[in-house]
Amino acid sequence: REEDNNADAPFFKIILIGDSGVGKSNLLSRFCHNKFTLEFNSTIGVEYTTKTLTIDGHPIMAQIWDTSGHTKVRSITDAYYRGAAGALLVYDVTRHITFVNTHKWLADLRNHADPNMVVTLVGNKSDVRQSVMVSTEVGKSFAEKESLYFVETSALRATNVEQAFTDLVANIYRNQV
Ligand code: GDP
Ligand code: MG
Repeated sequence: REEDNNADAPFFKIILIGDSGVGKSNLLSRFCHNKFTLEFNSTIGVEYTTKTLTIDGHPIMAQIWDTSGHTKVRSITDAYYRGAAGALLVYDVTRHITFVNTHKWLADLRNHADPNMVVTLVGNKSDVRQSVMVSTEVGKSFAEKESLYFVETSALRATNVEQAFTDLVANIYRNQV
């Protein structure tokens, strides 16, 4: 875990949620360190990384939390949700079940999190074109129905990763000013 210092900047807690293996940890490492790993290292416990972004000319600190999604018990502790201003709800476009499960993750969020939380639905692994099981249209229309932002990403190719995090933080910031 690492932090940078920008003590005066407003700061937002962002959480990554979604099934195990969808690419949460790689989205985070791509965004924060421009790194991708082929191994599947399940995240142990909960960790966060802090990154300062510039939104509308203002420095904003994003404290981004990642957790292991590998336990069968989907109920994450309230502490994970507590104080979160935004969430990236991630599924894997090549595994339909991970999209189905976003419905449960969303229900969880709505039970535990701040109702004003800004949520982006993220269809990750958009690089694996030949085995897409969840089309862009299906992802997008679910997001619209649930009033979520929507983006498809590839942590592998670094497609839309920066945008997913930056737009989320910008939307949180603009809701508050
Ligand atoms: P997490 O359990 O949600 O944190 O998922 P990980 O970030 O650990 O990724 C799980 C597996 O998917 C790893 O083998 C990664 O290399 C792979 N992966 C993650 N993102 C992508 C992506 O955008 N494209 C492809 N092709 N594989 C990915
Ligand atoms: Mg992980």
